[in-house]
Amino acid sequence: MHPNEADFTQDGAEIVNFHGAHIMVYDYPADSKYIARKIANFKERMEDDALFAVVNLKVLLDRMEEWKINFSRAEPHYAFKCNNDPVIVRILANLGCGYDCASKDEIDYVLDNKLVPSEKIIYANTVKTQSFIKHASKIGINLMTFDNEEELYKIKKLHSDPKLLLRIYASDNYGQCSFGKKFGCDPDEEGPKLLQKAFELGIPVVGISFHIGIGFNDTQVICKAIKDARNLFEVGTKTGHKMTIFDIGGGFPGSDKMGKIPFKKISFDINQALDEHFPESMGVKIVSEPGRFFVASVVSVIVNIIAATKVKASRIFENPENPDEEAYLYYVNDGNFGSFSGRLFDNYTPKGEPLFIESGHEKEYPCIIYGPTCNGADKIEVKEKMRKMEVGEWLFYDDMGAYTKTISTNFNGFKQPKYFYFTDRETW
Ligand SMILES: *Cc1c(COP(=O)(O)O)cnc(C)c1O
Repeated sequence: MHPNEADFTQDGAEIVNFHGAHIMVYDYPADSKYIARKIANFKERMEDDALFAVVNLKVLLDRMEEWKINFSRAEPHYAFKCNNDPVIVRILANLGCGYDCASKDEIDYVLDNKLVPSEKIIYANTVKTQSFIKHASKIGINLMTFDNEEELYKIKKLHSDPKLLLRIYASDNYGQCSFGKKFGCDPDEEGPKLLQKAFELGIPVVGISFHIGIGFNDTQVICKAIKDARNLFEVGTKTGHKMTIFDIGGGFPGSDKMGKIPFKKISFDINQALDEHFPESMGVKIVSEPGRFFVASVVSVIVNIIAATKVKASRIFENPENPDEEAYLYYVNDGNFGSFSGRLFDNYTPKGEPLFIESGHEKEYPCIIYGPTCNGADKIEVKEKMRKMEVGEWLFYDDMGAYTKTISTNFNGFKQPKYFYFTDRETW
């Protein structure tokens, strides 16, 4: 038990051991900010200013519930790269998720920890390292994606029992983070040729996949991709393949707050397109690769203010209305090289707020929140207004579960937040 966890048991929480991790199970429903405040209070008494994260496992279960209710046909294969936290990935596996893995290490982690059997893993990277293909062949990972002829030759040479999904191009170029044209073949011209080529090489293509990228602006792109896929199912079957799996990828928003259209609308439109082009009577298994959908809103990161400097507004804004207005620069102990890397790689701008409300501190000032490293690009956000903060106080950042932990570095020697897991007894 961590020294500070004993403290929580005195406050309605039982510490449960879950595969070596400690989960605080409360007798009452608790929210992330409430738990964060308890931990911060305790840390202050210990004079511990290290950043931390709270992981609301009830939210993880709620997200799975929401998926099942709205998307019963699309069997999820969680995208491991999104957040590889050992507790989160085990719970998702226990809830019935398969896995989308992109490398040998991801595959080995899932198998070594017995999260799911090899049949529930999709090696969903169209760009596969040669030695990884050999490894996949040896350990029975057969379901893989491809989008070009050259990859077929590699697979032919290195894998003894491949079952392929042809990845077609379907990208929401206006989304939060577009994949451009890095992945996916053209469904009209190249698709049929690749199906033919695979057949000639004796490689079974068992279905079609796509991944539209991140953030749905509208559902047109995905509905068109579903139509294209149906067409290629016809072509593939005529070519001689036995097509039984359709993989609709990931990209579903981490919460309605983070997405442009509500998940209910997305799933409704997709279900309608699936019912039209892939009716259940066809017997095609529909799978998906959600990442952020499950984990984004599960984790909140709480950072400590390590420096606070009073400046003039002219240092913060280009042409401020009142250049002499009182403003602040805050430096916190996590930044763009750590949990906030999503700002660079995922186009996600988190918005923080003071963890505690302080009476007598109602007046607000413009400010910049900087990360702790010596790099000028390590700037988290500019705020028009926030109450004045002192060194040692905490800022709370919500929705920090996706593409945070897995993209973090320890550049300049700054650490990742320790995860504190909690839930309530009813959920547990
Ligand atoms: C990253 C990725 C996903 C998951 O994307 P999310 O936006 O997190 O849902 C799914 N499939 C593939 C092929 C990916 O590269």
